Amino acid sequence: MHVIVVGAGIIGVSTAYYLNAAGCQVTVLERHSGVAQEASFGNAGVIAPGYVTPWAAPGMPKKVLASLFEKDAPIVFRPNLDPRLWLWAIRWLGQCTPERYRVNRERMQRLAFYSRIQLHALREEHELQYEQSEGLLQLFRSERDLELAQPGLEMLKAAGVRHTLFSAAQCREVEPGLSENPLVAGLHLPDDESGNCPLFARLLRDLSAARGVTYSFGARVLGIESAASGVVVATEHLRLPADAVVLATGVDSARLLRPLGMRVPLYPVKGYSATVTIREPTYAPLHALMDEAYKVAITRMGQRIRIAGTAELGRRDLKPREAALATLIKVARDWFPGAADYSRATYWTGARPMLPDGPPLLGTSRVPRVWLNLGHGSTGWAMAAGSGRILADLVTGKVPEIALDGLTIARYA
Ligand SMILES: Cc1cc2nc3c(=O)[nH]c(=O)nc-3n(C[C@H](O)[C@H](O)[C@H](O)COP(=O)(O)OP(=O)(O)OC[C@H]3O[C@@H](n4cnc5c(N)ncnc54)[C@H](O)[C@@H]3O)c2cc1C
Repeated sequence: MHVIVVGAGIIGVSTAYYLNAAGCQVTVLERHSGVAQEASFGNAGVIAPGYVTPWAAPGMPKKVLASLFEKDAPIVFRPNLDPRLWLWAIRWLGQCTPERYRVNRERMQRLAFYSRIQLHALREEHELQYEQSEGLLQLFRSERDLELAQPGLEMLKAAGVRHTLFSAAQCREVEPGLSENPLVAGLHLPDDESGNCPLFARLLRDLSAARGVTYSFGARVLGIESAASGVVVATEHLRLPADAVVLATGVDSARLLRPLGMRVPLYPVKGYSATVTIREPTYAPLHALMDEAYKVAITRMGQRIRIAGTAELGRRDLKPREAALATLIKVARDWFPGAADYSRATYWTGARPMLPDGPPLLGTSRVPRVWLNLGHGSTGWAMAAGSGRILADLVTGKVPEIALDGLTIARYA
């Protein structure tokens, strides 16, 4: 069976790898000149299945409203006249009830925990090294931050996720580079991890290309024609027939699906990261950290530090916002002042492909031979290996190893 995968972000590359492993002939079409050039490029790299939660949560509407008046808010809403934004926002609001939150979180975590198993299997089988580190430390600057985290602790307990509440001194034992910045406590999650997502994507591209996957870069897909006998995928330069196509096209998926009569409520949620080379390893982070007050992640990527955060809804352009970049640097300086020369940081802006309820869309699109692997929002790296494996199972007629209820297009019926 010949399968075309459109999009070579972390989701597309993972899908191509597993389809090839399942015996398919695979062609990947990507408009950029390499893999992981969009959302998958500059993310924080955190893989924390117990913390994979929907953006649509009780209390979030209030936070989003407050963001209209705050300069440094970790969540920013910038209303505009785009009707798609408002349709998205109305659907999102409807998902912010405690019951919908519980349902959506379970769906996302089911996939994220499965994905971690797949990721570890891949890592072991191919001895992959992608600047990974083990453990996540969540930092609470104040008693109030700690108090707000209590429901999260209950959820971790319920999900059976190993975690320990550390005193400030214990935090500094596991992270000796931490400054004397006021710290009330930290939550240590030893089984969580982080890694360099684009590096992993390149490793998987090399592996799958060596096994026969064809990667075609500079190939912008303009349209898809589906018929009972097969599909034709049209780019600017060619028309490529295949037995099936998988869309792993991130934020641009809605545009490709519209001519096929499908409307998916996908909206980009912008975020930023800063990366800086470590100058003094003694003062640098060893693991992944999350500053709860600012919702900023700090991760170690080899000889560099990645600082990422902010969720901005309402602007489709990728223009950076100076205040958001300054917040990233402030947080890194607060915790690891001596680790790097932060004036030399390089910055990145990306857009999370976000669905209003949270879980991605996996599996059939309802259009014959057109499959979906998209809408992974703020946790696509944590869900990539599992999503790729599931798509390969479905396309080749196998039953996936986890239940897919709530992860498919059926929920929008
Ligand atoms: C600031 C920030 C921090 C994040 N931190 C984390 C984190 O710590 N952990 C985590 O799990 N996730 C994180 N994420 C989310 C994660 O990065 C995304 O969920 C993930 O990268 C989505 O992958 P993707 O392959 O679906 O999309 P993309 O990486 O955007 O890939 C889609 C690809 O499709 C291609 N494409 C689209 N249309 C076409 C077309 N017509 N023709 C050809 N090619 C096309 C694009 O060029 C692109 O390469 C973060 C995101 C942001 C913005």
